[in-house]
Amino acid sequence: MSKYNLVPKSVPRVNTPHRKINTKLPVPESLEILELLQRTEPRSMQGQPPLIWHTGEGCTIRDPWGNAWLDWSSGVLITNVGHGHPKVREALRELVDRPLLTTYVFPHEGRARLDRELQKMSPDPENYRAFLLTTGSEAVENALKLARTYAARKHGPNKCMVVSFKNGFHGRTLGSQLAGGMDKQKEWIHGEGATFVQVPFPDGYKNEDVSFDRFLSSLAQLGVEPADVAVVIAETYQGVGPDFMPNEYAQQLASFCAEHDIVLAMDEVQAGFGRTGTMFGYEQYGIKPDLIICGKGISSSLPLSAVIGRSDIMDLYPAGSMTSTHSGSPLPVAAALASIEVIREENLLDHVKKMEPVLLNGLKKIQAKHPEVLGCVHGRGLVAGIQVVKAGTKEPDGPLALAINERCFQKGLIMFAPVGIGGECIKISPPLVITEDAILDGLQALEEAVDEVMAER
Ligand code: PMP
Repeated sequence: MSKYNLVPKSVPRVNTPHRKINTKLPVPESLEILELLQRTEPRSMQGQPPLIWHTGEGCTIRDPWGNAWLDWSSGVLITNVGHGHPKVREALRELVDRPLLTTYVFPHEGRARLDRELQKMSPDPENYRAFLLTTGSEAVENALKLARTYAARKHGPNKCMVVSFKNGFHGRTLGSQLAGGMDKQKEWIHGEGATFVQVPFPDGYKNEDVSFDRFLSSLAQLGVEPADVAVVIAETYQGVGPDFMPNEYAQQLASFCAEHDIVLAMDEVQAGFGRTGTMFGYEQYGIKPDLIICGKGISSSLPLSAVIGRSDIMDLYPAGSMTSTHSGSPLPVAAALASIEVIREENLLDHVKKMEPVLLNGLKKIQAKHPEVLGCVHGRGLVAGIQVVKAGTKEPDGPLALAINERCFQKGLIMFAPVGIGGECIKISPPLVITEDAILDGLQALEEAVDEVMAER
């Protein structure tokens, strides 16, 4: 069952430069497609606002019936340079027409050029290497494997613990989910988790103790010796906030890892490629991760992920023994090269920094109108989240978050369904090319949505 209302309902017309709604929602003609999806897919694929994506351009998603939504999702943090950027399309068209559609492990020029780009972005270009994969989870799995191999070969099999953070998310495959910190998602896992532990994330709201001592005492409580830790894996910001570590905490974590020869792997699947105003989010912490896990925004479009890491770790496996069929497939690689070029040419990092206060101040203004239920606003760059809570508490109010999110959808502002353990976080992540005018237009829709939903309670 969809979380959203699937009975077409009349909604007020919307007509701004960024949003147009002229039909009932969901659109009656869309039901056939939605129902076909329901009949053909597992229900896990349900749960997003019921609109049929037909075109995506810049910050606009259109359905086939003339409606246009302002996109505050980036298709779940993928389209950093905007949907369907002309440069990305041109790069893809060139390869399609050449044609060169696949290569697996055989060399091609694009792969060499992209690897070099990623290497140049790393903390120490001459001593880091890049390995291309397809999904974020796959890159996480690869980072875990490399880190564990490094630790075991250098220090023996006891150095095998994987430390990560509560409420963290690293993907849905076995290893990546074990490293995740959401217990409900791990109910299908039995017995394999003995070498995975999670400690509280220093978010400052759900966990108010942001000292690094808390990390150390949590490890001690779990009975984990630093000498036995192979890898610490952390999202640069936790998606469910977005929550950032204090810089001092991140630096202490990096020193702790260096002291005990623990691989520090930063999961930049969401934070990478400009989302927070720097190419990688970890740069703002002033740390140098040993492994950097990339995905989503790397190509702004086609499936591609990467692990960038210290060459002594990356080179542990001999020729032919660490590959994946679509590693560095030509089309996603071309899209990534074009997308990275756009980030540079359009000065998107500066743009993100300029837009950050517009978005965050606007959200805080809305929060100030409803402080009892909008528990906190966190954000940096062009990613932000509002924690929706039961009045005057920090207890998640998923249904209220969903009601606000659905009202935004009806007003032509699209976000993915709220995230977080209780579905309480309204997450905002527009393409990085969004203009100030479009941010203000979206804020207007969000403010109206919150006001209306609150007035109806
Ligand atoms: N790490 C993080 C931080 C993520 O946000 C995600 C996806 N939401 C993943 C890993 C997994 O990526 P994928 O869905 O491409 O497997």
